[in-house]
Formats: sequence, structure tokens, C-alpha cells
Amino acid sequence: MPELPEVESVRLGVHEWTAGATITGAEVIDPRILGTTSQRRIDASAADGFVAAVSGRRIICAERRGKFMWLTLGEDLDAGPAAEPAAPELSLLVHLGMSGQLRVHDAADEIHKHTRAILRLGRGSETLQLRFIDQRIFGHLGVQPLVHAYGRLVPASANHIAADPLEPAFEPGLALEQLSRKRTVVKSALLDQSLVSGIGNIYADEALFRAGIHPLAIPARTRKSRLAAVLDSASRVMSDALAVGGTSFDALYVNVNGESGYFDRALLVYGRSGQECVRCGTEIEKMTIGGRGSHFCPNCQKPPRYR
Ligand SMILES: [Zn+2]
Repeated sequence: MPELPEVESVRLGVHEWTAGATITGAEVIDPRILGTTSQRRIDASAADGFVAAVSGRRIICAERRGKFMWLTLGEDLDAGPAAEPAAPELSLLVHLGMSGQLRVHDAADEIHKHTRAILRLGRGSETLQLRFIDQRIFGHLGVQPLVHAYGRLVPASANHIAADPLEPAFEPGLALEQLSRKRTVVKSALLDQSLVSGIGNIYADEALFRAGIHPLAIPARTRKSRLAAVLDSASRVMSDALAVGGTSFDALYVNVNGESGYFDRALLVYGRSGQECVRCGTEIEKMTIGGRGSHFCPNCQKPPRYR
């Protein structure tokens, strides 16, 4: 799965290419992309509804919270004064799933065989297409109203997702307070998107290693200063990854691939089980916590001893 830095890298590229453009038309090639992985049966009319909802709207910006990305859509300002009251802002949610990609193309470009939907865009005299390509269809596109949650407007289905450490609405003190009350193991608490969003499996392991906390430590029984160090590390390691990966879309192309080794060079423990710890040389271990592989150094991250 793409994690926060990968999604942010895509968002930056999409924003650069589409903000201010008007959606002049849309095409849903495979309606399954409008469903979620738990809802695969899509009524044929859903595609028409999607096209009608987005056509004629202006893309105000591409936004992100945690691993949720969306285009905020306003009314089309080029259409002249509307007789109707101003259309409310909507969001076009883009969930990349395992293999989803957004690519910016010229209309004349050949259409890739796994293209599931196309937005036709106009910006000034420029015309472009934003294409959603997804081989396995684990990704998802959907039009949703915007609702207020955790300090800003987000798509309705993201209303339970807390602020992520890289957004202005994030309140570190509040996140620390909530984390310190958790009685689940810290690894699971970090993945709880209602506490802090955007920390996926990879960056949870990296943050715990950098802060020297064992993944099975219980937050409620851990010193607050150490928990603060974990949150701080999570934020830093994601910012660092973003800095490494944020320069890749000078071409007319936006791409994400969760499987790619793009950010791997920054990883100190994730995926390194059996290899030597970069700090102490002890063999990195792996255990399964909540169904997720967790990588840690048994020396740098001492197991908790609670009485
Ligand atoms: Zn170590």
C-alpha cells in the first residue's frame, strides 16, 4: 500500500497539473472503479451519475489527509453568472489502493489497457486528461460531500480520520494525550487512524526504532516523553521520505506504486529482519502484531517489563 509520503508525492503532482482546471467531461471505462473493495457490484447508472457530478466543475486543489487524497471541486467560474445558487463544493475522492496510478496525458496519447476512468480537463487554452489506471481495481473513485472533521473540510467517508502529523490542523499535544491513554500495544495504537492518521506499517516500525520503543510497549504504561519521541520520529521519518521522493514529476506524468523501492534507502528496520541493526549490529527481528509484520531491534528496543 502507498503510505503517506507516497500519497503526498502524488498529491503534489496532481495539484500542480490540475488545480484551476475545469473538468470538461469524464468517462468511466470500468464502473467497478466506483465501488470499494467490499462493494463491487456497481449499478450501470452510477457511471452516468459520476460523470454528471464532476462535469463542468472546476478543480480548486488536490488535498490529502493521512492516506486519503481528493480533488476539491467548485463550480465552474468560466461558465458565467449562474442563475442557480452557487453549487456546493464537492470532493472527488481518489483512493489509490494497491496498484492505482494517476497519470496526466495529452488527449492524443494512447490509452493504457488498465485505464478505468478519464477526466478531460481544460485550463486556459491547455487541454489535458487525468487518467486513473488500476490493474487490480483495489483503488476507488467517488464523489462525496465535504464535511468538517478534525479541524478542516474532508470527504464524508474520511470523517473518522484524525489529522496527520504533516498537516497544519495536527495538534501534537492532543495526539500525545490520546496516545498516552491507550492500553493496546503501541504498534497497533500508531496504526489507529482515529488517533493520528497517515502512519502506516512501514513508518510505524521506523518511528518505534528511532525512538527506541519496543512495538509491544503499552502506551498507558510508557513515559510521555518517550511517546512524544515516537510521534516526533513518525513525523520526521515521513517528512524525510517525502523530501527524497518529492522531485519525480517534471515529466507529464504522475505515478505511484506502493510496491516500488522508492523510499527504501531511508528505512532502518522495516524489511530488514535477519540483517544487522545499523546502530548496534544485533540481528533485526520480525514478529506479527495485529496481523502486520513488525520489525525491530531487540537490543535498541528493549521488551517492556511490566509488573
Ligand atoms: Zn540495535
